[in-house]
Amino acid sequence: MLDKVLIANRGEIALRILRACKELGIKTVAVHSKIDRDLLHVRLADESICIGPNPSTGSYLNVPAIISAAELTDTSGIHPGYGFLAENADFAEQVERSGFAFIGPRAETIRLMGDKVSAIKAMKEAGVPTVPGSNGPVPHDPDECLRIAREIGFPVIIKAAAGGGGRGMRVVHNEGSLLKSISVTQSEAGSYFGDSTVYMEKFLQNPRHVEVQVLADGQGNAVHLFDRDCSLQRRHQKVIEEAPAPMLDEASRQACLQACVDACIKINYRGAGTFEFLYEDGNFYFIEMNTRVQVEHPVTEMVTGVDIVKEQLRIASGLPLSLKQEDIKLNGHAVEARINAEDPKTFMPSPGKVNYFHAPGGMGVRVDSHLYSGYSVPPTYDSMIAKIICHGPTRTEALKRLSGALDETFIDGIKSNISMQKELTEDLNFIAGGVNIHYLEKKLGL
Ligand code: ADP
Repeated sequence: MLDKVLIANRGEIALRILRACKELGIKTVAVHSKIDRDLLHVRLADESICIGPNPSTGSYLNVPAIISAAELTDTSGIHPGYGFLAENADFAEQVERSGFAFIGPRAETIRLMGDKVSAIKAMKEAGVPTVPGSNGPVPHDPDECLRIAREIGFPVIIKAAAGGGGRGMRVVHNEGSLLKSISVTQSEAGSYFGDSTVYMEKFLQNPRHVEVQVLADGQGNAVHLFDRDCSLQRRHQKVIEEAPAPMLDEASRQACLQACVDACIKINYRGAGTFEFLYEDGNFYFIEMNTRVQVEHPVTEMVTGVDIVKEQLRIASGLPLSLKQEDIKLNGHAVEARINAEDPKTFMPSPGKVNYFHAPGGMGVRVDSHLYSGYSVPPTYDSMIAKIICHGPTRTEALKRLSGALDETFIDGIKSNISMQKELTEDLNFIAGGVNIHYLEKKLGL
């Protein structure tokens, strides 16, 4: 087992990683920016090092500073969390070259999945269901582009191979605007991501977002931890997530879960990962793979009893998977609400001092948060300050529990989206289950 882990992140996920390390008897090193010295995990870690100024480029994205901190503290592994450097193949490579374990997949896997064209190709070859599309970059020949689009059928979507965060995509409704849209997306992709490669896919009009959690040890063993539904989104950001995904076609669900496990073995995947799909009319369509722990991982932990972060640490220590597929059973239902420091009307960030914070409690209630009374939320980083996760024997009970937990949550000093989350737990269409990815924005009138 690794004996000391450097946590290359901040906020709730840094605390989550610290907790898992403590349980496994692994020593922890917190690295932080100047403004973050009062973060809860920095106070709780065995050692802490300030690695630079507040902007992420100087600290949480500062690779030489992170590697130096690992060397100074004689760390054995580095956990990147999510965001920041978590899906940066060059970082993973440098970490391993410097003699530390990267708690995540091999750099080549991150690279393969970071390019959506190569990711889709690999998944298709492994038997994972994909979206009908150009099967590679769009061709140079305009007639060929038109032929592919006609074959797929309009509307189609043009997407940047290097895209991320919902940027670098354009929907095309008719032949007349196809070629222009391709060239505009290519030049945008070039300036945003430094790679102008784009590809074409069928545009699914009312899909749900369903994803599959996997764990693999890079030694030939892989399991899935079932599915999650994260269709409630605003600007491609997930707002509420749940596990398992409700109301799926059982036959295609089982086939998809198995295909994800098979794909992990085929690409010799190592670590925790998520296959993201759009789901429409009983069919799954792979869109991308996230090669890291995700924000919404706790809902899966609540329904399977598997500690995903501890598994990541075990895998990075070179241990084979301790779990067998038949041992992983679904128990009840879990729902997570992301709490953001933001104005509930304008969605503008609302940083500042938290005078008082009261977290909810009770049976089946879990709070993953770095917040405490007196803590100041800096304006510099992501506005997510807490995740409230509720488990219940049924979906209805989990949602009721979440609704009650939101009533109990009290944050004084800054604004938050608690009222919007509360409203969502009482939304009859959401309660009925199976809303699509456009539902929340339509409800909010966006
Ligand atoms: P990113 O890496 O930027 O998040 P994704 O490929 O995951 O890019 O797509 C982001 C979002 O864009 C999806 O969650 C979905 O809302 C929308 N989207 C992507 N591809 C399609 C498609 N083929 N049809 C409909 N919507 C799509």
